[in-house]
Amino acid sequence: MIELFFLLLPVAAASGWWLARRDIRRKINVLPAAHPDFLRGLNYLLEEQPDKAIDLFLRLTEVDSETAETHLALGSLFRRRGEVDRAIRIHQNLVERRHLSPELRGFALFELGQDYMGAGLLDRAETLFQELVTLGLHSQRALQALREIYQREREWGRCLEVAAQLETLTGQKMPVEIAHYHCELAEEARRRQDTAGARVQLSQARRIQCDCVRATMLEGFMALEDNDAEQAVALFERVVERGATYVPEVLPALIESIERLGEDVVVHLETLAAGQASPHLMLALGERVEQTRGPEAALDLLADYLARWADLAVLERFLDLRARGPDPDGRAHRYARVALGVARHLLQRQSVYHCEHCGFQARALHWQCPSCRSWGTVVAVLPDPIQGDGARSLV
Ligand SMILES: [Zn+2]
Repeated sequence: MIELFFLLLPVAAASGWWLARRDIRRKINVLPAAHPDFLRGLNYLLEEQPDKAIDLFLRLTEVDSETAETHLALGSLFRRRGEVDRAIRIHQNLVERRHLSPELRGFALFELGQDYMGAGLLDRAETLFQELVTLGLHSQRALQALREIYQREREWGRCLEVAAQLETLTGQKMPVEIAHYHCELAEEARRRQDTAGARVQLSQARRIQCDCVRATMLEGFMALEDNDAEQAVALFERVVERGATYVPEVLPALIESIERLGEDVVVHLETLAAGQASPHLMLALGERVEQTRGPEAALDLLADYLARWADLAVLERFLDLRARGPDPDGRAHRYARVALGVARHLLQRQSVYHCEHCGFQARALHWQCPSCRSWGTVVAVLPDPIQGDGARSLV
């Protein structure tokens, strides 16, 4: 607990507004003189008796701006250490003090809201943040926190309301987030068979973000459900053209749509694959080529791709095909299987998606990053292009 006291000082300083211009030494000198009980409280901290220290701090009859600042710093520190119950006790006590300045009370309310969020008490946190917005205190941060709560609770309509308030307050538009909220509402409508409701939400998403790829994707699925294969193919191909990230999401539905249309899947996939490096597209194309033109043609196709792109999944399929191909000298199969084992081992450890914002790695597409909560930042990890002589570049 000794480190708690010393940690407290930098936390207080880092918190900006209340210690920005003050000398920590002056604070240490002033506090014990003005508040003898404070020194005892700090001693309890030094003696690793945090609950005794908190009891003493909470019993102080007078909480002026100086002591309130230290309470805030202490509460914030406990929360950061994961000791949310202690943080809540401190911040609750502060909020209940009648003579606190509006600004300090607002800060204490915000901190208490953060504590409640940390403890998973989202309803209580929501009430506090709403109170702050009503009071006009720390409105922007309170609205951000409310947006996070509503996102966690998947209350997309409320997310839209808060986003509109944030846009007004900051003057900054949030088209990506708002389009995703409409898409979430569209997916909910689809789940309850409300096609008309889903279409309304998708048109709203488009109004906010005209090139919203998620809306295009959902429109494609709805077109396929309506047996409008031509429209579905057009929409899914538009999604694929937007990049490798979205290919796995729509590829099976795209192939089904092309088949329903009675057109050649290989021709469609070849055209799409010429425009980008998506390994999923190449794997699907390779499978189709193997079925229609034979394994040699599929091997040639994959070899051409691997000459340009260093992708493990395509390499794995290539080696698998090779291990099942001709074996004139009796060794080719064994060698291919050894290489296949290595490729499969490495493939299992490879992440397929990553967040461009925080670096989070995932094996499935997330519209909202599970780590940093950003929308639309999770993208496919693309294969590196092969440049020149790969072996020579290793020297
Ligand atoms: Zn992230």
